[in-house]
Amino acid sequence: MNSTTEQRIALISVHGDPAIEIGKEEAGGQNVYVRHVGEALAQLGWQVDMFTRKISVEQDTIVQHSPNCRTIRLTAGSLEFVPRDNLFGDLPEFVESFLEFQKENGITYQLIHTNYWLSSWVGMQLKKIQGSKQVHTYHSLGAVKYNTIETIPLIAGKRLAVEKEALETAERIVATSPQEKQHMRALVSTKGNIDIIPCGTDIRRFGSVERKAARTKLGIDDETKVVLYVGRFDPRKGIETVVRAVNESKLRESHKLQLIIGGGSTPGNSDGKERDRIEGIINELGMKDFTTLPGRLSQDILPTYYAAADVCVVPSHYEPFGLVAIEAMASGTPVVASDVGGLQFTVVHEETGLLAPPQDFAAFAAAIDRILINPEWRGKLGEAGKKRVQTKFSWDGVASQLGELYTQILQPLPAREPALLTK
Ligand code: UDP
Repeated sequence: MNSTTEQRIALISVHGDPAIEIGKEEAGGQNVYVRHVGEALAQLGWQVDMFTRKISVEQDTIVQHSPNCRTIRLTAGSLEFVPRDNLFGDLPEFVESFLEFQKENGITYQLIHTNYWLSSWVGMQLKKIQGSKQVHTYHSLGAVKYNTIETIPLIAGKRLAVEKEALETAERIVATSPQEKQHMRALVSTKGNIDIIPCGTDIRRFGSVERKAARTKLGIDDETKVVLYVGRFDPRKGIETVVRAVNESKLRESHKLQLIIGGGSTPGNSDGKERDRIEGIINELGMKDFTTLPGRLSQDILPTYYAAADVCVVPSHYEPFGLVAIEAMASGTPVVASDVGGLQFTVVHEETGLLAPPQDFAAFAAAIDRILINPEWRGKLGEAGKKRVQTKFSWDGVASQLGELYTQILQPLPAREPALLTK
C-alpha cells in the first residue's frame, strides 16, 4: 500500500447526505457529523470521499467541498426521498453502484467508516466482497429507540440483527458517549471492539456572536427571557415537552417570555405532521403570542439564535449524542436536557445546565425557571459549558482521534494486546 491509499477513507452515509441542507426531515446530526468529520479529516491530510444516496435528478452527483473532500451521490432505488425505514431493499443496488464507482475511478477503499445501521450493512458487504476494513458509528441504536416509541416499524427485526452483526464484525465501533457504549454492551452484544470518540462542534462558529448583537439582530429586547429549541420535528425529539414546560413556567404571566422553536419541516411529510401537532398544542394552550417557529435555521444564523437565548432546551425522549446541546454550550448558553443517553455525558448537571426526566414537563419547567430567574448563575453555567466544549468536543479534536484510529486499523500494531482494544 502506498502512502496515498493509506490516507484514503470512504465515509458511507446512505440516508444522511452530508452535502444537503440540515434541519429538514431526516437531515440532522448524522449529516452534520459526516460533513464535519469529513472536512476536518481532509484538513489532516486524508483523501475523503463521502457516499450517500441520490434522491433527485436535480442533485449533483459529485459535490466538491474542498480539494480533498467530496460528497458522491450513488443511484440506489428511485430518485426520490424515501424514509429510512423503507430503504433496506435499495441497499444491494447501493453496493453495486459503489463497486461501479470504484471500478470507474481505479480506487479500492481499504477502509470505510459507515454511519447508521443501513450503511453498516453496506459496509459488511464490502468487507465480504473486497476485504475492506470497517469502522462504524451507530448514531442511533434500534435496541434503545424501540423502547421509547409506541409503533415498532416492520423493519425492526432486520435492524436489530444487522446492528448486532456490525458490532461483532467491524474492526472498530465508535460510540459517541460512554452511555452509548453501555447500551451496546447491555442491549446488543458483549462481543466486538468499541472506542469512545465523541461528536464535535465548530467552536469557531458557535460562540462567535455576542448576546447583545444577537438580540439586536433578532429584534429581541434585553428584558425578554428567551427559551430556545433547535432540531427536527420528530416526536422523539420531545418538542411537546418544551411547549408544555414553558406553559407551566412561573414567568409566563410576566409577558417577558419568548419561546423559539427552530427547525424545518415539509408539509405532507412526517415532520410536517409533527409541526402541525405542535402548533395545535401551542394554540390550545394560548401560547401563540410569545412563541415563534422560524423554520429551518441555517448553520450561519444558528450561532445568533443560541447566543440570544437564555436557555436552550433539548427535551429528547432518547438521544445517542445530541449535537444541539454542545452547540448551545459552545455559544455560552446553558442547556436544560432530558436525563438520557449522550446528554448525560455532554451536559453536566448543575455545572453546564440541568437534566430532567424525559417528558416530565413540570420538571423541565422548574429547571428552566431556576435558570431564568438567576441571570448570574445562568452566566456561570454558560461559561462552564463553553469551556467544556472547547476542551472536549471540537471537530478538529474528534477528527484527529478518528484519524489515529484509522491509521491503527490500516497498520495494525503487531504487539498490541487485544484486551486493550476494547477499552
Ligand atoms: N439543525 C440545523 N438547523 C435547524 C435544525 C437543526 O442546522 O433548523 C442542526 C443542528 O444545528 C444540529 C443538527 O441539525 O447540528 C441536529 O443534530 P442532533 O444531534 O441534535 O439531532 P439529530 O437530528 O441527529 O436527531
